[in-house]
Amino acid sequence: MTAPAPAAEESAAAVAAEFTALYGYEPTGIWAAPGRVNLIGEYTDFNEGFVLPLALPRTVVAAVARRDDGVLRLHSADAAGGVVELTAHSLTPLSDGGWAAYPAGVVWALREAGHAVGGADVHLRSTVPAGAGLSSSAALEVATALALNDLYELGLSRPELALVAQRAENDFVGVPCGVMDQMASAACEAGHVLHLDCRDLSVRQVPLDLSAHGLCLLVVDTRVEHELGDGAYAERRAGCEAGARALGVSHLRDVPFAELRSALGRLRDELGEGPDAEKVRRYVRHVVSDDHRVERVISLLDAGDVRAAGDVLTEGHVSLRDDLRISCPELDLVVEAARAGGALGARMTGGGFGGSAVVLVEAAGAEGVAEAVREAFAAAGFAEPRVFVAEASAGARRL
Ligand code: ADP
Ligand code: MG
Repeated sequence: MTAPAPAAEESAAAVAAEFTALYGYEPTGIWAAPGRVNLIGEYTDFNEGFVLPLALPRTVVAAVARRDDGVLRLHSADAAGGVVELTAHSLTPLSDGGWAAYPAGVVWALREAGHAVGGADVHLRSTVPAGAGLSSSAALEVATALALNDLYELGLSRPELALVAQRAENDFVGVPCGVMDQMASAACEAGHVLHLDCRDLSVRQVPLDLSAHGLCLLVVDTRVEHELGDGAYAERRAGCEAGARALGVSHLRDVPFAELRSALGRLRDELGEGPDAEKVRRYVRHVVSDDHRVERVISLLDAGDVRAAGDVLTEGHVSLRDDLRISCPELDLVVEAARAGGALGARMTGGGFGGSAVVLVEAAGAEGVAEAVREAFAAAGFAEPRVFVAEASAGARRL
């Protein structure tokens, strides 16, 4: 198993010292924002449905100071190219394209929303693997947003900060993501999964103490870089919107699971039998059933029947693989090998086409399941996956 990353709290002093060495004075503060895994509820967020993410112990740690001259200097210990220098009041979407677009986009989105945010010096370091479907991008945005919220005394709530971060990613970076990742990073609490209603961003913290049940949640990073920008996401999104339109609802969240069968029949009547219509029916079936799976997992967690959630996770994977069709051979192999190795359940998580999977295992069997996955990958000729334990950790905070 990959060794746990040092807690944000432990690296705060080092990140502050790096800031001082870089900019020649001490930062005003240190902020941390975590990556996330989503336990269940995939491609449901933009359908105004439900998701159930947890924050990872892996975080972006940012040392930040406010600057009142409008200069924005951005530096990441994890990115090549040194300090990126911009001007807060002349940022333009998609002008840059590199990693700095994420934090710069947050400044832009805050200013677009009418907040009097000027410059800042930022230095950050992250333990969230980038491009692994664990939302390093949202962690980067939320750490920046929270720091600016404090330094410029904006008084924004966690959901408001998440929406700003999402706007930055959608309209400045140019990635059409939903709001789950930013909400997870901003609002998760340690020892809980976040039941998020993506319609109104209302949340319920659902207790999840896996070790008390003798269980453990593994994250398996396949090392296959996902590409959300390649049109597949937009295509699924458009298909869901077409399905909602044909069913006469604003979003697929408004189709109750109990009416799924009749809704699919109505879609057949409305859209006919062609391949595009068949696609829309598959997408609708995935979204409506995954919203229902979120409810089922929450009921099981509330009832203390955590083991039974494993089967629901696996069902979710089958739906993502066969109906939404966003899995890939590596993700399918994680699920297959983990289950053959004794896991209670497993599914791909995040946008798909690579990235990571979550695996629910008996704590005593965790190492064996991880080994079974590694062996299966070696036998298939895939790169060695990175496996680590996901403990439900704290959301964004000032250290
Ligand atoms: P994910 O959010 O699943 O990790 P994305 O493709 O959405 O994947 O975001 C990854 C991008 O975020 C990277 O390509 C990089 O631009 C930026 N990023 C993530 N972590 C860092 C970091 N530590 N330093 C600089 N940029 C980062
Ligand atoms: Mg991302």
